[in-house]
Amino acid sequence: MPVSLDWMIKHLNIELIITNSYILKNSKYKDEILKKGLHKFFGFDGVIYTDSGTFQMYSQGRANISNEETIAFQKAIGSDIITPLDLFTLPSDDKKTARLKLEKSFERSSLLEKMHESYSLPLQGGLYVDLRKKAALLANKYEPAVYAIGGIVPLMESYDFLNLVKVVYAVKSLLKPNVPVHAFGAGHPLVLPLLVLLGVDVFDSASYALYAYDRRMICPHRTYNVDELEYFPCSCRYCEAEIPKDLTTEELAKHNLTVIFEELESIKEAIHEGTLYEYVEYKLGARPELVKAYRWIMRSANKWLQSYEPMSRKRGFLTRDESFKRPLVKHTKNRLSYVKSSCQEVESFMGKIPLSLALSYPFSQVSTYKHEYSWYAESIYFMNKEPLSFIKDVLAYQFRDDFSYKVKWENVKFIYSKTTKRLREVRYKNKVMLTLRSYDNLFVPRDEFYYFLKSQNINFPYKVKVFKEAEPFVKSGRNVFAKFVKDVKGAFQPQDFIAILSEDGRDFLGWGQALLSHKEIPYFKRGVAVKRK
Ligand SMILES: [Zn+2]
Repeated sequence: MPVSLDWMIKHLNIELIITNSYILKNSKYKDEILKKGLHKFFGFDGVIYTDSGTFQMYSQGRANISNEETIAFQKAIGSDIITPLDLFTLPSDDKKTARLKLEKSFERSSLLEKMHESYSLPLQGGLYVDLRKKAALLANKYEPAVYAIGGIVPLMESYDFLNLVKVVYAVKSLLKPNVPVHAFGAGHPLVLPLLVLLGVDVFDSASYALYAYDRRMICPHRTYNVDELEYFPCSCRYCEAEIPKDLTTEELAKHNLTVIFEELESIKEAIHEGTLYEYVEYKLGARPELVKAYRWIMRSANKWLQSYEPMSRKRGFLTRDESFKRPLVKHTKNRLSYVKSSCQEVESFMGKIPLSLALSYPFSQVSTYKHEYSWYAESIYFMNKEPLSFIKDVLAYQFRDDFSYKVKWENVKFIYSKTTKRLREVRYKNKVMLTLRSYDNLFVPRDEFYYFLKSQNINFPYKVKVFKEAEPFVKSGRNVFAKFVKDVKGAFQPQDFIAILSEDGRDFLGWGQALLSHKEIPYFKRGVAVKRK
């Protein structure tokens, strides 16, 4: 290894180590590891995940270890996540072989399931999408710590990103959403954003070292042969040599690792900021194969991605033709179909929209290279002059329901901001019902709004019921944990406002914002499902 583990632990934000039990078992350290256990041996108290050696056996063409043997060894050295010896499927395998390997791999995993171990369930199936789907459906019957999509390294090595995303999507879109997904051997900054977009959570790769031995320098957008470089495309602290050629294998490996970890941090920040699509699209310019793969995702995985599309984001850029195919656009079209507006229409990046919605997300928040906004003053004038039409349209759009058109809006007062002169609140008998959020021009509902709707027998579309034991906590303003959600109603998405009700559905406990979509909540046993405040 060109870089020590101590160095990695000290310098990189590593949350999990994946190491190969096959290599450890055949190394001179075998007895020491057996005696001390993995954690002590490596001096790492985080999660240690061991691979079984499937890939090594495939790449070295040897078959000298059994499934039982590798499991027993991984257990003996104290691995936190054990991997069975699955059968590596090659892109060139015929369907019959791929199916046999898949079935055999499941058989081998069953042993770990029976042992109630914390293990990784490898999913094979080669390039056959129907086999990959079959693998995912079978996998849902198991309870592993992680699902691992195997057999994809050859696709990444040959830049076949189209088949890579087809395979990953076939599996991920059918898997239970509460188990993390690991893409075996994926570590190049070029593919990481695309894989994260498809829902992959865990990565591992030895590319930093293999590339360094091969004199290859990984950069965020491509790989260089370091000995051919005239100029230095990096100035990280390991690239201090006079000229690139002088970089040692160790320096090159450290550089490669640094770039890969920077990539992961950039992706996490994009998720945090709500700009993952922008980030993925920014990378597309690096390779035509990426564009092909992204176009396929926008076409074939769009519906699935739409169900995770948040209600709103603080910013957004549509910078390429592909941007206009994003789930955001299709999902917004769907929201628009609930609006029965009679006001005039204006041109937006999605075609004509009612003037009443022009200030709401995404029409005023997302910038494109094709459109200029000219409606700003006009839409504020409309909102202030016809607040009721404005409210009805925005609510229908926001909650994908026509209840706002059925409500009797009597005894309702509109409050305007003294400084901006814009509509700010809707009150009922002097109690605040709705507050207009300034950055996305959507409504934040207050308790009074629920009672107002209920008094007119109007059903609010998005609801969760919580178990009795959680009721007092929710009432006092605490978050709702997924395991306390008894029942989910309505097709809400992340960030949508939902009414939280008592177990019997009679009492309203408060409003919250969904952190997960309605589809995900029933699967999760841990973590917050609905955020308060
Ligand atoms: Zn560098």
